[in-house]
Amino acid sequence: MVLGAFGLGGEGWLLATALGLPALFALCGLTNSITASPRQNIQTLAEVVESTQITAEQRGHRFGLFLLQVDDFDKLEGHHGLAVRNQLASDIVARLASVLRPGDTIMRCGSGQYAVVLAPIPKIDLELAIQLARRMQSAIAAPHPVDGSTLYLTASAGFVLDRQLSPPIPATLIQAAEVALAQARLNAPDGLRAYSPEKPTNSHRKTPSLSDLQDALESGAIRPWFQPQVSTETGELTGVEALARWQNGSQTIPPGDFLPAMEQSGLLEQLGDVMLTRSLMALSHWDRVGLTVPQVGVNFSSSELRNPDLVEKIRWSLDRFDLQPARLSVEILESVIASSPDDMGVRNIRKLSELGCSVDLDDFGTGHASITSLRRFSVNRIKIDRSFVTKLDRDPEQHKLVSAILSLTEQMGLDSLAEGVENAAEYSALSQLGCQHVQGFGIARPMPADQIETWFRERESNRTPSPQIERRTG
Ligand code: C2E
Ligand code: CA
Ligand code: CA
Repeated sequence: MVLGAFGLGGEGWLLATALGLPALFALCGLTNSITASPRQNIQTLAEVVESTQITAEQRGHRFGLFLLQVDDFDKLEGHHGLAVRNQLASDIVARLASVLRPGDTIMRCGSGQYAVVLAPIPKIDLELAIQLARRMQSAIAAPHPVDGSTLYLTASAGFVLDRQLSPPIPATLIQAAEVALAQARLNAPDGLRAYSPEKPTNSHRKTPSLSDLQDALESGAIRPWFQPQVSTETGELTGVEALARWQNGSQTIPPGDFLPAMEQSGLLEQLGDVMLTRSLMALSHWDRVGLTVPQVGVNFSSSELRNPDLVEKIRWSLDRFDLQPARLSVEILESVIASSPDDMGVRNIRKLSELGCSVDLDDFGTGHASITSLRRFSVNRIKIDRSFVTKLDRDPEQHKLVSAILSLTEQMGLDSLAEGVENAAEYSALSQLGCQHVQGFGIARPMPADQIETWFRERESNRTPSPQIERRTG
């Protein structure tokens, strides 16, 4: 058996198949006839699905279509460069091929997205398909050596089996797999969903139009969800991060699916206004009901940071809700401060810091900011990127890196927060290394404002009593 992969390079299209050589050459013709446009990719996937379906029908066999999306794939280029991103994209094809059978087809059909069409087999059920999807996810999750260190990737997967749809028209099968993937991505990382006929089939993956986005902003369909941040020392809630979500009917759409369209339509400013206002509104509500949420972190894009009216707008919003500036933390990306000369952005951040807001440096370790720029931008706290936190308890290299980042932070008198903490082992390793705050699915996933209250009260009632209390009652 020969495993093959063909690439047109860069952003281009790639198809691999675990086939013998003659079949590979046959498929070569197919790959070469395709350009890199996403629409044509979909048509080509439809062609592969269609020919698989014809063969399956002739033989009385079954097949399945899987879609996998590497979580946070878009961030790879910014963090590690285009060459590394492209290399990883090709490595993933080879890894998928290593867990598939001869005749299965792998297609790279978007940024970090892969389609796998199983060759027809006599029988396939949900259980077998789930096992196979898990094998593909594990192949992607195995460590990737990059620049002398190790990178960990995760992927979400959605699939549909031909017998789930009647008739199994290629376009409908692809749409069903997209819906399953969209649902899996709500449980990222490592989300996995089989297509379920009860769920709506209108995929939200199509690019939203300008008027859809404007309507969503104006009607309140786009609003912040909040993810808790806790102190490693006391376990107490020290803040929440506001993360944009679009509630489109029964679907909750993550920001990765609408932020690029918003940026292109020049709507980021309007999104920023919605996020700031609703975040401060939530904070003032929690104050009224006696919930201690010390701070809310709001993400600001580079264009918002360059707005000459930003400081006044924030001052006015804080006044409107009668909140002290220290209750707002301004999250700026490390890549933004790395690329900004001494311009409006620097001045705005400095003024916000003078006003009393705190400044969090997001995705730290990925954006090549100079150490002096931390001072220039009056940064208060660094947020250690999730890519350094993943498997930190098991990987000595990750451990060394985070330890180095934390000692730098301490020496500079800055606070620290680790992002993407997914389990107790990562939490305790960070705590031992002296990281002050943690945030991640291991503590809580982002949730709507009204659920924060329930989460907080439940956490308070489940908190292990301090040793002093135990001694007194025992
Ligand atoms: P970010 O600021 O780095 O936000 C953290 C992202 O990591 C969030 O994804 C969050 O759901 C996810 N996350 C949190 N804990 C974990 C974990 O333990 N494991 C994993 N795998 N992921 C975790 P989300 O909400 O999809 O946001 C993605 C990005 O979109 C954000 O990255 C931020 O750059 C951007 N974004 C979100 N809301 C806004 C906004 O209101 N304005 C702007 N300009 N950007 C926003
Ligand atoms: Ca952030
Ligand atoms: Ca981040």
